Amino acid sequence: MKRLVILGGGESGVGTALLGKVKGYQVFVSDKGKIKEKYKQVLIHNEIEWEDEMHTISKILNADIIMKSPGIPDKIDLIKQIRKQGILVVSEIEFASKFTDATIIGITGSNGKTTTATLAHHILKQELNVGLAGNIGDSFAKQILESDFKNYVLEISSFQLDDVIDFKPNIAVLLNITPDHLDRYDYKFENYIHSKFRIAMNQTKADYLIYDADDEVIVDHLKNNPVQSTLLPFSLKKAIENGAYLDKENIKLTINNSKITMPTSNLTLEGKHNIKNAMAASTVAHLLKIRKQTIRESLENFQGVEHRLEQVLKINKVQYVNDSKATNVNATYYALESMDTPTVWIVGGVDKGNNYEELFPFINEKVKAIICLGVDNEKLMNTFGNMVDVIVETQFMSEAVKIAYKVADAGDAVLLSPACASFDLFENYEDRGRQFKDAVRNL
Ligand code: ADP
Repeated sequence: MKRLVILGGGESGVGTALLGKVKGYQVFVSDKGKIKEKYKQVLIHNEIEWEDEMHTISKILNADIIMKSPGIPDKIDLIKQIRKQGILVVSEIEFASKFTDATIIGITGSNGKTTTATLAHHILKQELNVGLAGNIGDSFAKQILESDFKNYVLEISSFQLDDVIDFKPNIAVLLNITPDHLDRYDYKFENYIHSKFRIAMNQTKADYLIYDADDEVIVDHLKNNPVQSTLLPFSLKKAIENGAYLDKENIKLTINNSKITMPTSNLTLEGKHNIKNAMAASTVAHLLKIRKQTIRESLENFQGVEHRLEQVLKINKVQYVNDSKATNVNATYYALESMDTPTVWIVGGVDKGNNYEELFPFINEKVKAIICLGVDNEKLMNTFGNMVDVIVETQFMSEAVKIAYKVADAGDAVLLSPACASFDLFENYEDRGRQFKDAVRNL
């Protein structure tokens, strides 16, 4: 019996444990932190050995294969020791994908993964038997065990890709690459770019890579490191023969002479970034032979995902928008770009070495007031202090929203798009977004 050790007892870890057990492995789960009660119950119920708040080295180094949760960085001593011993380390998608023949659609990028994966799933599920997994909802491993879908849309982070060996999506989507998570990549952007391209590493000519042809980082990398995959680019800026592009107000999509035209005015999601996401998702759908009418209708009735440019409420003709998931500058760039009214902008949190320069044109053009919401707001106050009439700081969401309410006039918008991580004042971005929505509803 082969021994599978799982480091990290979260959604992907526990899912892998269940799948591993059924597939005949001797399974052990070890988590340095506390395992959530609901996951403990699953492990106990399924008679899977586990420990939390410690790692017992002797029970780990005797593994044949180790599944490392994407949250665990490579640089910790335990992982170094494991690698030194030459034990095989894989990610959940690598382990789980061996146990399914389903068509895999793998979606990665710095921003837009959840939105595009959810949208692609929304279109595909109208006509196909399809699961949605990866960083979303139930783990991929668990779904293989319990649902056995014929197709999977997977949202895949760079951390999952780092421990991929043979994994190969039939259709890969690479949405964009902007600096993020560089602490996990020795502060080298190049390493992070390589990690993202691992999505196409094992692809052949029979597989597809859908990517943003306007993204210079992607295009440059492809030029210097060609992939085997059949390429299907999308662009907002130039005509694309095989792939998707924006022709005035229409998305035009061509795959091997089969064409679809979709008016962007019918898209429910706002913003140019969402046109890109829609192009990527429709390309996937067209490849999988979803009917044109179904694709169009699905784009028109997709409700979006919570905390991503989510329209909360209109109060006194002021629209409140929750974009709490914008945890980096690029996401906030698209949020500000999509605003077509004067905007009161709530920003701040844990800065990841942000460079705000690309936002300056939008600040001058449409931001009338800035509310800095973080433990340390000095950098924001210094950067934007001279650009707007009103700039204030607070450590409380309720106060931030009250100030916004006072400053905003009829016809304005209040946008929470922090460009920063949330951990200084909130549990996570969901908590931040919920507190924002609660504060708005209490106005
Ligand atoms: P991810 O799962 O990659 O974090 P999300 O879909 O959750 O992406 O969106 C994260 C943030 O990025 C949100 O603020 C959203 O509005 C913004 N966003 C969505 N799609 C894109 C895109 N294609 N380019 C840039 N920003 C995007």
